Amino acid sequence: MLTILYRGPLASCDYDCAYCPFAKRRDTPGQLRADRAALERFTAWVREQPFEVSVLFTPWGEGLVRSWYRRALVELSWLPNVARVAIQTNLSCRTGWLAEASPERAALWVTYHPTQVPYERFVAKVRSLPVRHSVGIVGDPAHLPHARRLRAELPASTYLWVNAEEGRLYTDAEAAEWSEIDPHFHHSRFAHASAGLPCRTGDDVISVNGDGVVRRCHFVPEVLGNLYDGSYRPALRPRPCPAASCDCHIGYVHLEPLALYDVFAGGVLERIPAAWPR
Ligand code: SF4
Ligand code: SF4
Repeated sequence: MLTILYRGPLASCDYDCAYCPFAKRRDTPGQLRADRAALERFTAWVREQPFEVSVLFTPWGEGLVRSWYRRALVELSWLPNVARVAIQTNLSCRTGWLAEASPERAALWVTYHPTQVPYERFVAKVRSLPVRHSVGIVGDPAHLPHARRLRAELPASTYLWVNAEEGRLYTDAEAAEWSEIDPHFHHSRFAHASAGLPCRTGDDVISVNGDGVVRRCHFVPEVLGNLYDGSYRPALRPRPCPAASCDCHIGYVHLEPLALYDVFAGGVLERIPAAWPR
């Protein structure tokens, strides 16, 4: 199976998070048309492959407010060669359309942004989701009361993850507070030293952009080839990580010594632990 992290040219978001460079950015109509065409080309490619594919959409901004991402999630979820299709989202979109997606194979990686959406509206949407999903929050100290409330009020079956805030060093006492909410917080607390270690990316996991340019992951710039002319395929093989460290879940989950494929077995892309609820 080939796992693909897809990130097209879309770079706009309807939210305005203080910690994000994409907050309230606008794509021009031309940029949106290009993003739509790129996504439709990608989904057509997936449809034609004779092997199994899993896809995680990791847009810079928010994809599900665009009809073409909603359609791609639904369509891919029913393809016989697609094992899982997931997307990172702020869940600002309506959710009724998700009833058309395969509940086994479509999934959402949902992030809660407390300054951007009323708590009750967000929780009601999560409760209504008919597909697999995780929910998460950035470990900003100002978010702690929101995170505690979410953990208490979301169904026990919903995994609530916490991402360490970029650049923040947590004392052991602070980390313990976040670990009460997310028992896997320790994986996010520090960047993982990764240089020279085996990582599945570049072998059975790849990153693809809107032009079909294939890299091993979103964080290593070296190009392996192009998806659409097949030039990436001869380049796929096991290879060590060339970066000093890896601090993003969508990267280090593939770093083999961490054994996170065991922790998240069956839910690696949408970040749902195998043993959940605990
Ligand atoms: S919802 Fe996500 S992409 Fe949008 S502004 Fe917030 S962090 Fe950025
Ligand atoms: S460990 Fe992270 S940075 Fe290194 S190759 Fe894997 S995903 Fe990329």
